[in-house]
Amino acid sequence: MKDKLQLMIPGPTPVPERALLAMAKHPIGHRSKAFSDTIAAVTAGLRWLHQTQNDVFILSASGTGAMEAGLVNVLSPGDRVLCGVNGKFGERWADMADVFGLQCERIESEWGTPYSVEAFAEKLQADTARAIKAVILTHSETSSGVQNDVEAIAKLAQEHGEALVIVDAVTSLGAASVPMDEWGLDIVASGSQKGYMMPPGLGFVAVSDRAMAATQTSTLPKYYWSFAMAKKNLSKNTTPFTPAVNLIYALQETLTMMQEEGLEAIFARHALLRDATRAGARALGLGLLAPDSHPSSAVTAIEAPAGINADDIRSLVMKKFDIALAAGQNQLKGKIFRIGHLGFICDRDILTTFAALESALREVGYEGFSPGAGVTAAARVLAG
Ligand SMILES: *Cc1c(COP(=O)(O)O)cnc(C)c1O
Repeated sequence: MKDKLQLMIPGPTPVPERALLAMAKHPIGHRSKAFSDTIAAVTAGLRWLHQTQNDVFILSASGTGAMEAGLVNVLSPGDRVLCGVNGKFGERWADMADVFGLQCERIESEWGTPYSVEAFAEKLQADTARAIKAVILTHSETSSGVQNDVEAIAKLAQEHGEALVIVDAVTSLGAASVPMDEWGLDIVASGSQKGYMMPPGLGFVAVSDRAMAATQTSTLPKYYWSFAMAKKNLSKNTTPFTPAVNLIYALQETLTMMQEEGLEAIFARHALLRDATRAGARALGLGLLAPDSHPSSAVTAIEAPAGINADDIRSLVMKKFDIALAAGQNQLKGKIFRIGHLGFICDRDILTTFAALESALREVGYEGFSPGAGVTAAARVLAG
C-alpha cells in the first residue's frame, strides 16, 4: 500500500506532521528580526536538550559535519588523541582524525562490546606529560546498539586535566540523558535526522568554555566551520552564513514537542521501547549484540537465526509490511539486522514491527518460537 512506510531505522527517523507543516512556509530573510527571534528560541531549546549553559551552534550539515567542526576547531596537526573504536562510527572518527593529521590512538573493542574504561584510564594516567589533547568518543554506537560509558571516561579526562572530551551523541541526544555540564563534556555533536524528529540537514555542536578557549590555539584550517565566527554571530542571534531556514522552523516545532513531553519522559519512553525490543527479540530466540549492561536507547542490533541471512528477513519485512529495518554494516552484513526506536516512535510501532518480524521469520523457515511470542513479550514490557 502506498504511503504506509514505517521507518524503524536509526536515522532518518519519522517526522511528525507538526514539524512537516512548520516547514511548509516561505523562507524569510536570515538577517531579519523575525528570524533572529527564531534563532534565540531554538538556541534556548537546544541548551535545554543538552542540559547545558554552553553555546550550541546550528550547522547546515549532517552529524558528521558537526563532528568535523568539533575536531578542526580545537585541535592542531600532530596532536595526540585517543579514539574509542567499537563499531562503524568509532572507526569513522578515527579515520577522520587520521585525515586531519592527528596522532590518533585507537582504543578498540569488538563490535558489540562496550569501551574498556580501564584502557582509557591506563593511557590517560600514563600520560604524565599531558600530551593527550582529546578523547574522541561515540556515545551510542549505532552499528552495534552499544551505549558506551561516556560519563566514566569524561571523568578520567578531567582528572587528566588537559584532554578535551569530544562526543558523538548523534543517536543518544534526545533518546538518553546527555547532561553536558554535569559530565564535563567539551564538544557534543548531533544531527537532525535522529532524536530530533526532523528531516536530515542540520548538525548541532555544543561547545564548552574550555573547548572555546582551545579554538584560540588550534591551527587546523576552518572557515565555514569556524566556532569563532559562529559564536560572534550567535551573540546577535544569527548565523555566519545562510542557514537552512525551513529546517529551523521544523526544529522550533520539534523542540516545542519535546518540551511538552519533558526530558525525563522522553528518556523513559526510549528506555521502555528499548527494553520491549530486547524482550521481544529474546522471546523469539534471537541473540542481541549489545549486553544488558550497555544497551543503546536508540537502536537494537539483533542476530539472525543460524543459517538465515538477516537481509532476507529485512527484505521480507519491507516487501510485505512496508516496515524498514536497518542492515548490519561491514563484517556484520547479513548476520544482524537493527531495529531503530529513536525519536517519533511509540508502543504501536514496536508491536507492529514484532508482528511483521514474526511473519517474516516463519516465511524464511525459522521455527524457533511459538507464534505471538515476540509480540507478547514486547507488549508485556510496554504494559509496565
Ligand atoms: C547517524 C550517525 C552519525 C551521523 O551520520 P550523518 O550521516 O553524517 O548524519 C554519526 N554518528 C552516529 C553514531 C550515527 O548514528
